[in-house]
Amino acid sequence: MSVSCLGFIESNTTGTGRLFAHAARSIGVNPLLLTANPDRYAYVLKDGIEVVTVETTNESALLDACRNINSNRYLVGVASSSEYFIGAAAKIARQLALPGPDPEAVAQIRDKGKQREILRTANVGIPDFRVVESVAEAIAAARAVGLPAVVKPVSGSGSHGVRLCRSYKEIETHAGQLLEQTENERGLPVPSRILIEQFIEGPEFSVETFGDRVIGVTKKYLGSPPNFVEIGHDFPAELPAEDLILIRSTTLRALSALGLNWGPAHTELRLDSDGPKIIEVNPRLAGGFIPNLVLHATGIDLILATTLLATGRQMKLEPTRSKHASLRFITTGKPGKLVTVSGSDTAREVQGVTEVQLYVEPGALLTPRGDFRDRVGHVLATAETNERAVSTAEAAVTHINLVMEPDTFKTSSGEDTGRMTKALTPTARRIVFDEHTEDIFHLEMSAIAKVDRAHLVMLGETGIVDSQRVSALLKAIDELESNGFQRLKGRSAPRGLYLMYENYLSETLGQTVGGALHTGRSRNDLNATVLRERLRLPFTRLVTSALLLQAIILSRASRYARTIMPGYTHTQPAFPLSYGHYLAGIASALSRDINGLFEAVQDLQICPLGAGAGGGTTFPIDASRTASLLGFDSTAANSLDAVASRDPVLRLLASATLMGVTISRLATDLLTWLSQEYGFLALPDRLVGSSSMMPQKRNPFLLEIVQGRTATPLGAFVTAVSAAQKTPFTNSIVVGTEAVRPVWQALQSMTDAATLTRLVVAGAQPDSEKMYRRTVEGFTLATELANELVRSGMDFRTAHHAVGESIRHSLEQNEPTLNSVAQRLGEQGFEVAPESLDPAEIVSRTSYGGGPAPETLHRCLKQCRESWSAAVQTLRTIKGKWRAADELLREATKRHKSTNE
Ligand code: ADP
Ligand code: CA
Repeated sequence: MSVSCLGFIESNTTGTGRLFAHAARSIGVNPLLLTANPDRYAYVLKDGIEVVTVETTNESALLDACRNINSNRYLVGVASSSEYFIGAAAKIARQLALPGPDPEAVAQIRDKGKQREILRTANVGIPDFRVVESVAEAIAAARAVGLPAVVKPVSGSGSHGVRLCRSYKEIETHAGQLLEQTENERGLPVPSRILIEQFIEGPEFSVETFGDRVIGVTKKYLGSPPNFVEIGHDFPAELPAEDLILIRSTTLRALSALGLNWGPAHTELRLDSDGPKIIEVNPRLAGGFIPNLVLHATGIDLILATTLLATGRQMKLEPTRSKHASLRFITTGKPGKLVTVSGSDTAREVQGVTEVQLYVEPGALLTPRGDFRDRVGHVLATAETNERAVSTAEAAVTHINLVMEPDTFKTSSGEDTGRMTKALTPTARRIVFDEHTEDIFHLEMSAIAKVDRAHLVMLGETGIVDSQRVSALLKAIDELESNGFQRLKGRSAPRGLYLMYENYLSETLGQTVGGALHTGRSRNDLNATVLRERLRLPFTRLVTSALLLQAIILSRASRYARTIMPGYTHTQPAFPLSYGHYLAGIASALSRDINGLFEAVQDLQICPLGAGAGGGTTFPIDASRTASLLGFDSTAANSLDAVASRDPVLRLLASATLMGVTISRLATDLLTWLSQEYGFLALPDRLVGSSSMMPQKRNPFLLEIVQGRTATPLGAFVTAVSAAQKTPFTNSIVVGTEAVRPVWQALQSMTDAATLTRLVVAGAQPDSEKMYRRTVEGFTLATELANELVRSGMDFRTAHHAVGESIRHSLEQNEPTLNSVAQRLGEQGFEVAPESLDPAEIVSRTSYGGGPAPETLHRCLKQCRESWSAAVQTLRTIKGKWRAADELLREATKRHKSTNE
């Protein structure tokens, strides 16, 4: 059966992109994300979205990818939630005869200069403006439109680079900065034109439309100048009827002038003394969670409507309610590291609050930038009146507090070292400077509490322990956990953590209750189970970081499929390759490494709980019940093996070790090619280190960290195996505790190594000219010359000798070029076709044996991508299983807590 798919070309990073994917699934269509960097989107892994990695900046590659999807599945639409890719989506949809807006209209609208010209011709109200290409022109334009003036890029979104300038000096600085940029944050080329506009004062609104139908008007709240960060919205806007009519009619005139009559549009305008002035028309659905406001206020689901329309279906857009929604963003104030966000639960409980979302997690480094990225979360309130919605949202947002650690690294001398002007990228910093904040005590206690809940539920259900005591114990454990186990902190634990905790329960509930917890089990099976439970998080993190690394490698491999470079053997130039082919090789190896991790986790899915101290129990326990409450696949068949063995952990370490081998070899090659002596690759400032003494240095030190950290799993493996050797086959501290001590650091180190490698691979810029030159100079085409002679009838050994001799001769004559080799062969009567001297030509012909020819390379990449997608699905399934079990356990606990109340 062919599955219908909806292709999304890239996505916005917060908000609607993820919701579109959900909407597609809800109408039985499989969302497919076409992206160059899947790791840009956290939701891809979380939701298990199928990904097609493709160079999305290349429209013909995109079209090929879509055609390719269509050849084995049924592509019913192509869309994008990202401002930067709606143009491409419209073009491709049109070429494949799929629904979508007029691509020409979209292209014109996306150039703000063209958009303004069309609107001016149609006499629609707009600010006075000039399109300029130099700083001098910018200043002249500012004189014409008057100060203060707004300076902005001709294409952009999210208020990137939009700035209110009050003086010519400011115009000069800001215009200069914008004109210097050659690509935007998506790596797409930007036109070297900018807009200088008259500043329209007065309140700002946006109009959400669908086709020629106005869904409603949103009121916008803006942060303080000179930037224009949206800090809140109300929907519908409270406005006098005559203003509303003007706003609606101006919008509809603008849309018709721009030729936009398909689907959602988002028109921004400001209302000044002589009527509405269009700031911008976006030929797409509003971002900034406006669709959520519309849904809460009217019941109209614009995301669903857009998704349906993109697959050729229509939906009724009738409001089913008439409420007011108000949203306020939580924004970063000062730079620094986020310690925690407090008060979101309190905000959630405020009457009328319908959504509290945070887009960042503790540990994030926040840097105010003056655009949409400063928004770290939002509160949404719904009420009967606008006033009430506003006051509720504003009150709720005051509860939320971003607790920050001051960012000393940045404010001190760290950022600008003279040689480098940009600081190390935050993710790398976190890893390099060991800024991990894991509370081991809390992790261990939560795992114990979880296993205990499952055990108690089972004891209650089998009647081994009466329901009153089960209920009392469950309540006490929940109570402890809800306080972060603070009550246990600082208590003396002369006989270890578990007995201290059991003692606490006995003290508070009485010995007859507390003492029942351990019925039918032992610390031995408890420890073995807790270990497996605790390994899930580091396992997930490791697989995730490996998948993200592989995704980047795949994207760079296709980007550099034609970047010719020498392949090496024994450090000597050997054969012509492409950088893409090299990377695809690493990606292939990584596929196996990732599969190895999945294989290892299967053994960890067998639950040892019930084995007791190692001899089982005479209580009629239901081990499969505890296993399923804890998300395991099965139960251990032998009690002795269950407590004696830790080999599943060792297998995980072994798989991580093997992945470390692949990654460290990549790191070594990259280090070599980044060396000044090779100069094949270059890294940006944010990925290199400085020297405290030598001012000239730019050290690719992240790769050295990778080399170091990839060694830790092996260290841990050797430690564990040596500790376990010759230990009697029964429960043992050596095997159960000591041998597995280094596993946490080892898995974290591998995760970090994969992450750092990803940053470097993503940022490394090949010098294609140098690579090409060395391919020729290194005589890597010699084998192909010999092959030519073979094709003209010679046997290979003789040809090998002839070419080798010609090379020696050329070198002796001090003419170390391929041409002179060919000439010498020619003198001996062996004609060599000129194209045999062209590495690009040779590479394109090397299609056998998995060679670097682009079509062969693409077959390899396709295979890797399939394996990547399958791995994402597997990870999703495993995580889903664990999550479902958590839910099961939560419900069962709740049920058992409430017995006898
Ligand atoms: P982007 O495409 O990045 O969203 P916009 O052109 O919409 O850029 O500008 C972002 C914001 O800047 C607008 O929402 C508005 O608040 C403000 N702005 C832009 N141009 C003007 C202008 N000419 N007058 C007043 N405000 C403006
Ligand atoms: Ca805008």
